[in-house]
Amino acid sequence: MRTLLSSLLTLAFTITAASAQQQPVVLHNATLIDGTGAPARPHVDITLRNGLIQSVTTTSVRPAGAKVIDCTGKTIIPGLISAHSHLGVLLNNSEASANAYTRENVVASLDQFERYGVTTILSLGVNRDLVYALRDQQRAGQLGGATIFTAGRGIGTPHGVPGLKVAPDQVDYPATPAEARKDVDTYASHHADIVKIWVDPSHGRLPEMPPSIYSAVIDQAHHDRLHVAAHVYALADAKQLVQDGIDVLAHSVRDQPVDSAFIQSMLHHHTWYIPTLSLDEAFYIYATDPSVMQSNFFRQAAGPQLLAKLQAPDYREKTLSSAQTKQSTQDHAVAMQNLKSLYDAQVQIAFGTDSGAAPGRIPGFSEHRELEDLVHAGLTPLQAITIATGQTGQLLHTLNPTLNLGLIAPGYSADLLILAADPLANITNTRHIEAVYHRGHLVPHPAPQN
Ligand SMILES: [Zn+2]
Repeated sequence: MRTLLSSLLTLAFTITAASAQQQPVVLHNATLIDGTGAPARPHVDITLRNGLIQSVTTTSVRPAGAKVIDCTGKTIIPGLISAHSHLGVLLNNSEASANAYTRENVVASLDQFERYGVTTILSLGVNRDLVYALRDQQRAGQLGGATIFTAGRGIGTPHGVPGLKVAPDQVDYPATPAEARKDVDTYASHHADIVKIWVDPSHGRLPEMPPSIYSAVIDQAHHDRLHVAAHVYALADAKQLVQDGIDVLAHSVRDQPVDSAFIQSMLHHHTWYIPTLSLDEAFYIYATDPSVMQSNFFRQAAGPQLLAKLQAPDYREKTLSSAQTKQSTQDHAVAMQNLKSLYDAQVQIAFGTDSGAAPGRIPGFSEHRELEDLVHAGLTPLQAITIATGQTGQLLHTLNPTLNLGLIAPGYSADLLILAADPLANITNTRHIEAVYHRGHLVPHPAPQN
């Protein structure tokens, strides 16, 4: 029986989605991984209609006028969701620029995410206000690419993080709690999906956001019915933030192993944790493991400018001997261990990569690499896929209850990947993308499979 709520959600989608009056599509005889964490189910028919998943059945269904696509031997998973990515920071994926936040450049990134099967992203800070207009255009069906959720600008510390080379209107740097509260109110007036703050002294090199500022941000955001996500690095900061009511830790704790007091506090406060494992690795893997650059899947995502940088004659040697590589290798190992501890303790984990924030963190590629890292950290492929789909969809649902994302179930947005190989046998098989559907539409030119 359909509930009134699901009817209303369906109605809302029908009105707002680009996909109204779409010809129904039946994906026939697929193996389904539905995003809930349930085991894969063989011989499933999935019907897409008006941008939504209409039905999921184990009997063959053929609605009148439906287009039937034979998915025998294919595995279908929900579209991936990155709850920590960035737009308009890099030009050509290869260099940070204060001029990168243009409509053209942002749209190119959204298209790239979508072609790689990342059908939704949370652009977690460092956005120009242009992002709100782009999000509105998407909701009105006038713009494609990965579905945007956004934190708008975000709140940094004067002379501290984020030390990115961006335009002045991409980050706010309030000097007092009162100024910080005003900034939060401005984001609320734009209907930002979440608020972003940065709390990190950058190994003691930079001033850190004082607790008086972040507790004012958290308080004001909650007053404005917004959640707050924090960039964080150190356990002590993470502990204080969780204590003060932060909703999302947007990076791994990387200075030391998490302890049971921290885990208990995360559980008690229902705090989300986004491990961004591929972030630390992106500082060095292209030097330590150049084989990752061989596939067309990688090369097309990177683009010629970044490839040239990563393959320059001195890149490898310089990177291998840099202090950054030493630090990031250590950080990555701690992050992997902490993710496993938190996952096993049933802390809520969401999926994110920090893709788009720096060269090497490549929209689309980073997300598939992150899945691989989650498995290397000790999760099963099914657990990793569940985090990147249904679980992160739940986080986004708390930010915007009108969107049902991350599952292949009736009433959810028809966002999915048809894979030519079984990702449960090998997580890197998520890269064998035969087709991407987003809001029920077939995405042109999906990422190359090899
Ligand atoms: Zn970030």
